[in-house]
Amino acid sequence: MAGKKDYYEVLGIGKNATKEEVKKAFHKLAHKYHPDKNGSGDSEKFKEASEAYSILSDDKKRAEYDSYGRVFGGGGPGFQGAGPGFDFSQYQDAFSGFDGGFGFDMGDIFSDFFAGQTGTRTRRGRDISIDLEISFKDSVFGTKRSVLLAKTSVCEACQGTGAVMGTQMETCKHCNGAGKVHETQNSFFGTITMVQPCRHCKGAGKIPKEKCHTCRGDGVYKKQEEIEISVPAGIEGGEMIRLAGMGEAISGGQSGDLYVKVHVAPDPRFKKDGPNLVTELSIKLSDALLGTGYKLQTLEGEEEIDIPAGISHGETLRLKGKGVPIARGKRGDLVVKIKITLPNKLSRSARNLVEKLREEGI
Ligand SMILES: [Zn+2]
Ligand SMILES: [Zn+2]
Repeated sequence: MAGKKDYYEVLGIGKNATKEEVKKAFHKLAHKYHPDKNGSGDSEKFKEASEAYSILSDDKKRAEYDSYGRVFGGGGPGFQGAGPGFDFSQYQDAFSGFDGGFGFDMGDIFSDFFAGQTGTRTRRGRDISIDLEISFKDSVFGTKRSVLLAKTSVCEACQGTGAVMGTQMETCKHCNGAGKVHETQNSFFGTITMVQPCRHCKGAGKIPKEKCHTCRGDGVYKKQEEIEISVPAGIEGGEMIRLAGMGEAISGGQSGDLYVKVHVAPDPRFKKDGPNLVTELSIKLSDALLGTGYKLQTLEGEEEIDIPAGISHGETLRLKGKGVPIARGKRGDLVVKIKITLPNKLSRSARNLVEKLREEGI
């Protein structure tokens, strides 16, 4: 479902809609299609609107959606795991009887309900996105880059356990080792009981007897980390590389992902045409007529090519296997477009020679 629908269309708003308009449009639809509504209730439509809202109400996701027409890594934060078989009744009750006046942020409420719904849903660290600029040559052949990122990472001293290596863990007294607690909250809907991850053990059910000194028992801490990025051969500018688990780490949860948006600095000498590289070579008129050897700049350096006698302006020559790597060991071609440059001015003797050529009928 994700990606196929136009989220703006789903909400019936324009691409330039403000956050406030996104919210209003969603609230209107949520009110209309809520599964509890007799007559107009439609759980599919409600889900669709919720999904659109979860993307368009989040600046980062909206920008991603606007640029790529999809959001990497699934739906909104509240919709992880909410697949097709997703059970609506879990939070339907909580919505019973609501009748407008939406003065609250539905997005937050969804997150809470979904978090409560599964109880054991894995907490996930934030995704990080960075930009990487590479040369045209590196985009053709691929490259490796190291970047230094300041982010919350798993503590290497305790390997994320939060305990001094070799020391024991003990059962959390707050949740009796369950890792979750039931919490009652009074809300707009009445009293809601929610299952929340235990704050003291962060859902693990156990706490270290002796806390790790590096991370103070959190298992994670903010530090500079050097990350190596492998850019594959043949990448296009604007493409995104996803490094799973290289985003922000989170205490007692799973690390987010790192997204690298690749920008390619153009090289005026070369253009890509599928697997082929296209370049131009200017040759002199006499060389075009008589043929000769020419030095050609390729991405890998200089190459000597043969210009056959009588070549025309605009004709192409092909250097097999000097293009973009496509499969194991295979590469496209380097296509050389010939440009014949004519002199602006002729010396007296050159003019005499050309006049002779004319007499020859050339
Ligand atoms: Zn530690
Ligand atoms: Zn606990």
